[in-house]
Parts: sequence; structure tokens; C-alpha cells
Amino acid sequence: VYALVDCNSYYVSCERVFDPRLRGRPVVVLSNNDGCVVAASREAKDAGIRMGTPLFQIRELLRRRGVAVRSSNYTLYGDLSGRVMSVLAGFGADMEVYSIDEAFLHWPRGAEPDRPAALGRLIRRRVLRWTGVPVSVGIASTKTLAKVAAHHAKRASAGVRCLLDDGAVDSALRDLPVGEVWGIGGRLARRLARVGIRTAGQLRDADTRRVRSLLTVTGQRTALELRGFSCLPLELAAPDARSIVRSRSFGRPVTAERDLAEAVSLHASRACEKLRAAGLLAGGLRVFIQTNPFRTDQRQYARQACIELDPPTDDTAEVLGLARAALGRIYRDGCVYKKAGVMLEGLCRRGSRPGSLFASGDRERSRRLMATIDAVNARWGSESLAYAACGVERTWRMRRGHRTPCYTTRWDELPEVRCG
Ligand SMILES: [Mg+2]
Repeated sequence: VYALVDCNSYYVSCERVFDPRLRGRPVVVLSNNDGCVVAASREAKDAGIRMGTPLFQIRELLRRRGVAVRSSNYTLYGDLSGRVMSVLAGFGADMEVYSIDEAFLHWPRGAEPDRPAALGRLIRRRVLRWTGVPVSVGIASTKTLAKVAAHHAKRASAGVRCLLDDGAVDSALRDLPVGEVWGIGGRLARRLARVGIRTAGQLRDADTRRVRSLLTVTGQRTALELRGFSCLPLELAAPDARSIVRSRSFGRPVTAERDLAEAVSLHASRACEKLRAAGLLAGGLRVFIQTNPFRTDQRQYARQACIELDPPTDDTAEVLGLARAALGRIYRDGCVYKKAGVMLEGLCRRGSRPGSLFASGDRERSRRLMATIDAVNARWGSESLAYAACGVERTWRMRRGHRTPCYTTRWDELPEVRCG
């Protein structure tokens, strides 16, 4: 038996945990630099607000409908997600964290819960009580059906939906547009519509060879999953990343090389931290800068520089030096820059490389220094130890005019409670 646990309107729910005034009210969360809507509460969607809409187009609508606006606070969302996942880990099932706000749980044959619906309600109650985040739970015999169940659970009053008998599965699939099925989406849905397959039920009942010729073996697996044959096992360990990218738009136009250098250094430094946390080394470094493509009145410029890292490394100081030199090669005076970033590529496991013939004591010193910096920052908070190249004032940073405090990850932003 599989369960999909999905947080409801996740970013909005995180904002509501610490600001109860937002409950029951329409709320939207904006993308970086407060550009467009990336999350909307049910009330906001009912007011006609669509995801992806630029803020300037709906200012008037937001004001008229009394919609609360928040900047995205990914530190808060990431931390609460970790808490939700650790509550879910306590239910004695195998678990796949599928995204920031979704996880699959799996109980193998013979170890299934006796009363799945009651278990679903318990999961929902416990996550809400322990983290403040409301979730929907879909329970079924395959991952694809569990996704369908969670979709219906959003509208069920108890927030739980079980699709474990044929009648329940039939009625859940009958009117579900096929594009809503996990792994199908708009493009494949149009291809299916041409042969008269419009609902999830029709896809399930279609001839499997026909489905295979239309959608390849991946689509055939989806159809089998809808019939209750489990073809997609849990992915317990995420595969190693092939590259790590860090980039952001600036909060204000940037022209000075010095500001670009700080931004590139900060991105490189964060990318190296991520690299070491994953136990990887990078064999290549790419630095990129660009102007704002929407400002057609300004001179357009975009360049990147690639550098081979041989031998592969995870040393921040080394990467910072090379990134700074690369920036010097591509920087052009007189442009107004909008974005800068860094990519680490050619990643390999730290232990998988044979030791270099010329490995020296320097390597060992670097390894110990990086381990010490990471340990200090883990203990005392991110950037307790940082490279000066990353800048201090960082006036180029993103605009986040409506950001809520990092309630759960910064001592100076803890929520305060007063009784009077
Ligand atoms: Mg969700």
C-alpha cells in the first residue's frame, strides 16, 4: 500500500503557521524579487488569481479583494519541510521525499496498515499538531493511484481519500481529465485526445499495446499503475546531482565589477558548501553574467566562462580564486547587469577518484580547513565563517519587501508571544 502525503498550498500554509491572521484569508506568495505569484491559497484562487501572474498586473485586484501578499521565504519553507518529513518518518513505512511538500510512504505486502483510512487521518492530525502544516493524504495500491487519491483528498472534508476497492477507483478515475494523471501532462493529453482518450478511466481501459505505441513504455507503465499493478517503486535515495547551480537576479541594477565579484563569490561559496555536503568533487566551473533581456532600451550582454578543475576539487578558496579570474575575463564595462551565477559540473564522488600522483600535503590541509569551516557554520549558523570576497553589505541583494522572518532558523527572528 502506498500513501501520498501532500501539504496543502504549501508556501501559504507555512506563512499561516506563524501568522494566524492569514487563516481563512486570501494569501499569495511572490517569486524572488517580488516578480510574480508562485503560490496562492484556495481563497486567492477563488478570487481569480492565477499562478505565474506578474505582480504589477494584479495590484488593483489584490487591493480590492484584500489579499495578503508575502515574499517567498525559502529558508522557512525548507526548514518546515524538514520537520514535516521527520514527522512522516515516524510512521514505520519506507519513505520517498518527492518534493519540498510531498512524500510517498510504502508498506510492503504483509505489513499493510489494518485500517488505512484511520491511519491517514492520524497522519494528518499529527503533522498538523506537530508542525502546523495541513496535509492531504491519498492511499492506494500504486504511486500513480495514490497521487489521484491525494488530488481528490484535497476536496474531501477529512483530507483523506482511500482508493483501495474497485468501486472507489472507478469513480475517482471516471471524470478525471487524463492530463491530471501523474506523468501525463498537457502535451501527452493532447496526443491522447486525438484518439479519443480524455479521462484517466479511458487511459486505464485502453489497449496496453496501443498506449505503448502512443506514449512509449513510460506511458504504458502509467496505464498499468492505474489498473493497480505497481510498476514504479519508491526511490529511496536520490541519485547524485550532475551539476550544482547557484544564481540570482539582483535587487537593483548592477554595473560595478566589484559588486558582480561579490555576487559570484557568494554563489561559488554556497555551491561549494552544497558540493561538500553531498560528498562530491567538481571537475568544472562555469561563471555567467547577463543584462536584463526585457530592457531593450539598454545594451544587451551575456557571457559565460568555463574552467576545468583538474584535479577535481571541493575547496572554496581555490574555486573563489578561479571564479574571480573568470569574471575578470568576461566582465564588460558600461553594461547594466541583472543576474550572475555559478555552476559546478563534472561532479564525481569524493572517494571514487584514484589519488593523484602529485597529491600533496596541501590537499590534506585543504580538506581539514573545509571540514572545520563547515562544522563551525553547522554549529553556529550559516556564514559564521565566510570569505571576505563574498562581501558584507551586499547592496545588490534581492528585493524581498514582504518577507516574513525566518522564525525557525534565526535566533534574532524567533516569534514573540505576548499575553496581556
Ligand atoms: Mg502541495
